[in-house]
Amino acid sequence: MFRRLNFNAKLTFILLGLQFSSGAVLYRSQDELPRGVEYDFIIAGGGTAGSVVASRLGENPNWNILVVEAGTSNEEVFNTRVPGLWYTLMHSSVDWNYTVVPQKGLDGKSLVYTRAKMLGGCSSHNTMVYTRGSRDDWDSWANMTGADGLQWDKMLPYILKAEQWSIDPQNRTQVNHYNTSVHSKDGKVSVSLPYTVHPFNDMLLQSTKEMSEEFPFDLDMNDGKPLGIGWKQSTVDHNGERSSAATAYLNKTLDNVHVLINTYVTRVIQNNGTENTWAVEFAVGPDSKRQTLIAKKEVIVSGGAIGTPHILLNSGIGSSEELKAVGVETVLDLPSVGKNLSDHIATPTTFSTTFKSTGFNQTEALEQWQTNRTGPLTQPQELNHIGFTRIPTNSTGFEDPAPGMNTPHIEFAFGQISQQDGSTETSLELFVVNLHPISRGSVTLNTSNPFTYPIVDFGLLTSQTDLTILRQGILSARRLFSAPVFTSKKTISGTSAPGSNITSDGDLEAYIRQTGTPLLHAVGTAAMSPRNATWGVVDPDFRVKGVKGVRVVDASVIPNTPSGHTQAPVYGIAEWASALIVADWNMTVTNATTGTRGGEKP
Ligand SMILES: Cc1cc2nc3c(=O)[nH]c(=O)nc-3n(C[C@H](O)[C@H](O)[C@H](O)COP(=O)(O)OP(=O)(O)OC[C@H]3O[C@@H](n4cnc5c(N)ncnc54)[C@H](O)[C@@H]3O)c2cc1C
Repeated sequence: MFRRLNFNAKLTFILLGLQFSSGAVLYRSQDELPRGVEYDFIIAGGGTAGSVVASRLGENPNWNILVVEAGTSNEEVFNTRVPGLWYTLMHSSVDWNYTVVPQKGLDGKSLVYTRAKMLGGCSSHNTMVYTRGSRDDWDSWANMTGADGLQWDKMLPYILKAEQWSIDPQNRTQVNHYNTSVHSKDGKVSVSLPYTVHPFNDMLLQSTKEMSEEFPFDLDMNDGKPLGIGWKQSTVDHNGERSSAATAYLNKTLDNVHVLINTYVTRVIQNNGTENTWAVEFAVGPDSKRQTLIAKKEVIVSGGAIGTPHILLNSGIGSSEELKAVGVETVLDLPSVGKNLSDHIATPTTFSTTFKSTGFNQTEALEQWQTNRTGPLTQPQELNHIGFTRIPTNSTGFEDPAPGMNTPHIEFAFGQISQQDGSTETSLELFVVNLHPISRGSVTLNTSNPFTYPIVDFGLLTSQTDLTILRQGILSARRLFSAPVFTSKKTISGTSAPGSNITSDGDLEAYIRQTGTPLLHAVGTAAMSPRNATWGVVDPDFRVKGVKGVRVVDASVIPNTPSGHTQAPVYGIAEWASALIVADWNMTVTNATTGTRGGEKP
């Protein structure tokens, strides 16, 4: 997520009727659901992961799938389609707008935490940056959780299954912009490299030659070793439109996938008398009637890193002590539910430049986009590169939180170059991101009413190491912009925020606490852990520990933040989880037919 300085495009809704343009069958109210249909799988949350799982399970025409989504259809929100208008969706009516409690590490600031409330979830309103993380990330998760399938080499086929490399929306060259050998053209979600021709691009690439030791050129951030500066890949299709889990998966299912929108999952409930069968309870609002539907096979909870623990806690799955305190009866004492909440933490920096602004006339750009899907709105951001770097790790007492030497500590997220009113100079915006924060927070129940928002506390910057990394990141950005290509003609004349007089550790850390912001990549609240571990929420097969019949598939199972943005890891994990679920149930059928037990049954 990156902030935008100009915020003038309105959120536009269009009503397209009662159906997706194709694919899953859409129901706007529970009363419309077809009578007599028994659902094999019910998925709580039609977001990024939920859409993948629904679509993959629905490939078996004999299974009926129901997705229950609290928000509306992405197809009703025009701005989801236009990459350059993503920022208008934040804090809008298709946003949960969670409140984060005052953060001690941010000088007591409270925050609004944005999460999409519509089909496709955050993939329908995110900034579309496409990064898989590092090989070290995945291998360390496999090690930590006992899930061999998370190893980079084993996960890559699932990431590729989700990915469809696409040509540039404006048909321009992509030579030397990415490594064709690490991408797939056969998957679902379009990934491309939209860009603008701007002198900053050439100079930045020149700086990678001048400072090749610290900031080498990296041809492809998605080859498992994201270190250096290179071109930014985005989930934008060849037609200059956003590609999301809703457009790439839900829109392309068979009609055995039913989607109920505008409906909240209030609880998952064990079905009376049958140990392994669970039901989903849902309602439109706090005062409306609650309905329950049984999943013949399984319930999959895919509410995202905040929604999922909220659903589990409302269902009595969590710390029995904490549940009792708010009057919720414990069904399963699982203290890790909602704990371990984590997000990347970023601090904005700006540099004074003489570059021309990357700003453009929004009305003309929208007209151009609508006419022929070209122009600046085909890309999510005006600047088209991304950087990943490591900080020096040899200082005494520094415990390196990165999972390996081929993994960055810091991301440079280049935003835009803007002109302030009345100034001849422009301002280049760069977010410095700490990719491996140690600070942890939690999602806990506020009341026993499932419609009351949970208490969300990220515990941001409660660790000194997190501050140290960001401070080093700012110094690193200053070094980058002191490359001869920028300084020789004073195209970049220095740092404006934090100002050039802010140099001491204390002053820099004070600046970081004032400006720090989470990057909207929440993970970890239903973390995967080894079978029999005393921590964690799901086993390596995504089943809630101690429960048969309920799995969690979404960002909440990821134990800690990756070295990049989170959507590609969520797509990969959801593809893998779907394959496991399909294999489990196919095995059950085979075993039932042959009368033998070939492995662990669902
Ligand atoms: C503004 C923003 C920008 C971002 N930018 C990027 C980026 O550029 N690149 C990147 O890789 N990542 C980005 N991310 C993060 C990334 O999009 C998410 O990590 C990822 O999409 C999360 O997927 P998920 O399936 O876990 O959850 P989600 O996609 O959030 O899906 C959860 C779904 O469950 C629904 N739900 C929740 N509770 C209930 C309930 N009780 N009943 C029914 N439905 C419920 C929600 O409405 C939602 O549709 C961004 C996120 C945001 C918010």
